Amino acid sequence: MVIFVDLDGTLTYTADVKYKEFKDGLRDFNPSEIPLFQGSIDFVSKLKSEGHRVIILSDSHPKYVRSVVEYYFNVEYIFLADKPNTAKTLSFILSDESLNSLYQTQKEDFMIIGDSALDIQLGRKLKILTSYIHLYTEGNFSEADGIGNYRSIIKYGPTFIAKSYQELLNIVSNRQGNLLSIEAASIGRNACKSVKFWDYRDREHQRVVAFRCLARQENGSCDKFSKADLYYQIDNPQRKNGDLAIMAKGVENYLQGLQQINSYKWDYFTYVSDKSSTTPPNKLKEIFDLISTSIPKITLFEWDENMTSSLRNEKDYQARQSFIRSHLHIKNSGVSLERKNIIVLDDQLTTGATAFEIRKKLEEQNVGNILIVTLFYMSLLVLDDKICPRCGKPLVIKTNRKKGSKFYSCQPPQFGGDGCGYIENIN
Ligand SMILES: [Zn+2]
Repeated sequence: MVIFVDLDGTLTYTADVKYKEFKDGLRDFNPSEIPLFQGSIDFVSKLKSEGHRVIILSDSHPKYVRSVVEYYFNVEYIFLADKPNTAKTLSFILSDESLNSLYQTQKEDFMIIGDSALDIQLGRKLKILTSYIHLYTEGNFSEADGIGNYRSIIKYGPTFIAKSYQELLNIVSNRQGNLLSIEAASIGRNACKSVKFWDYRDREHQRVVAFRCLARQENGSCDKFSKADLYYQIDNPQRKNGDLAIMAKGVENYLQGLQQINSYKWDYFTYVSDKSSTTPPNKLKEIFDLISTSIPKITLFEWDENMTSSLRNEKDYQARQSFIRSHLHIKNSGVSLERKNIIVLDDQLTTGATAFEIRKKLEEQNVGNILIVTLFYMSLLVLDDKICPRCGKPLVIKTNRKKGSKFYSCQPPQFGGDGCGYIENIN
């Protein structure tokens, strides 16, 4: 593989503002003054010894990058990378014949590893794999760098998430086996990974509430494993059984992994029921029914009869919450939920409004642990740097909802843009 590794916050422990003058090339220093994360030298040398080409990719000044990299790591490097803009990194790739031919044919053999949203954005623009590593435990860093805030970074939809170099080495040597479970299932691989969104430990009620997602639904440019194409099939009246089976298989593998690694015993597996007006009918139920698991399945939720209005018509978080609070109910089925550990499946995590209302409804029943799992979460928009050949405005990437195929659009006013309407298909 070709692995771009960010420097500050990924290999060096330099979040403290006192290092800023060094990074900006404003003050001379001895590289031995620069603190490293424990194991970072070993990490880089292991990657090299496994035959990977490691290139350090840093926004910092050449004086700083050169001296730190040469002193500690002895690999190639790019300085003043200007993330998330692709120009500097792309020109490095294009200037090297073997790198360039690999990039044209096998983008999934490239990865960028970093601790900030900028690293993930750059990787997505380049359509290569991205690994978010979060090693900082404390520190005096600025929010503007976009580091240290786990949730705001995972919203950019990195391919992988790691908390240690060991995990990263494992990811690099087994990429497909470390994909999110539905993304892996879509290429016929079994994996049980999820993205952790929230974890709450409610000591008073001895309850853990967790939220997990099993695939990314990209918004804009991304690596090839992200699954917006599959996500749009959920709503497609002509959806194919094969696509439903992939989603079901991904959930199945996730649940299996959960039962192996988890010390909790799960009592029930349920889903957010479909309204009678849903198109296609039984939208989520069909997927739920396909999932084979040893955890007992139950139908727990029901909507008010004759509910035709859609949650999507509710414009903000509070409106969505109150919509669910008043129209979705726990069935009175005679099953006691007291202290039961329950897993709830839903199709997509957007604002979290549904998930948090469901949690409340279950808590009112005095259940035990709650795990809310969604098939997809939408990543934040990342555009690649393509401009319209007709009018010069930036193009956006859109997905054809029926076919799942992608195209560039110079979005005209009727679709909320100010472009000329130019369209180009993406292969
Ligand atoms: Zn245009």
